[in-house]
Amino acid sequence: MRVDVLGVTFDDVTMDEAVGLGMELLDTPGADTVVTPNPEIVMACRKDPELLDTVNSASLVLPDGIGIIYGARILKTPLKSKVPGADWAEGMFARMARAGRSVYFLGAKPGVAEAAAENMAKKYPGLRIAGAHDGYFGDDGPVVELINSASPDLLLVCLGAPKQEKWMRDNRDRLNVRLMAGLGGSLDVYAGVVQRAPDRWRKLDLEWLYRLIKQPSRLGRMLKLPWFLAIVVWKRVFGK
Ligand code: UDP
Repeated sequence: MRVDVLGVTFDDVTMDEAVGLGMELLDTPGADTVVTPNPEIVMACRKDPELLDTVNSASLVLPDGIGIIYGARILKTPLKSKVPGADWAEGMFARMARAGRSVYFLGAKPGVAEAAAENMAKKYPGLRIAGAHDGYFGDDGPVVELINSASPDLLLVCLGAPKQEKWMRDNRDRLNVRLMAGLGGSLDVYAGVVQRAPDRWRKLDLEWLYRLIKQPSRLGRMLKLPWFLAIVVWKRVFGK
């Protein structure tokens, strides 16, 4: 079942269910897509119908962050759980490692994808690394060729939103992968370039605050969150 939060329709799943569905998608033909919208992407979708269509037509739309969970709750259509994209992908790596499946890391600054691949290969013995490439390239064609020659089961596309969603849409038909997921800054986290919030902060749903303290330049982007919640409350009260 999908839950509508200001036009974006989210899958109502727990983390385990999301990983289970991801594993099933590895066995279906064609390059399925996974997107992980946060309030900022929902706001972008409100201004860009083509982006909205791209996001909503993904095979899995996972609620990334507490803002979406609050939004759904205020709208009286609560979601079971937040499913941060970086955690979902690690859930996939754990299961893929047992099954000997492969992953390709695309995105972030030069050297980061390789470091992320190395760290994940160590953390999940058995996980096959099909390749890694940075996210700063001109033409898509040569990168698509590289990915296709590696033919990974899972492709992580970490170019930031909405670039990664558009990249997946534009290249989907020519990509030889089973599943691809747009995961923002996850490679920076796997590589250790960016630290996730400590567990205590995450349990208190304060990961956003931790990120803001560590990267104050995100303030402009984060100011979309109160705006998003204001629109949600308006919709709840006035129904439009
Ligand atoms: N990025 C990239 N190519 C670009 C622009 C951005 O690979 O042309 C990368 C950037 O280096 C970073 C990620 O995309 O690793 C975006 O991270 P951010 O923290 O902004 O994403 P979020 O998780 O907030 O969506």
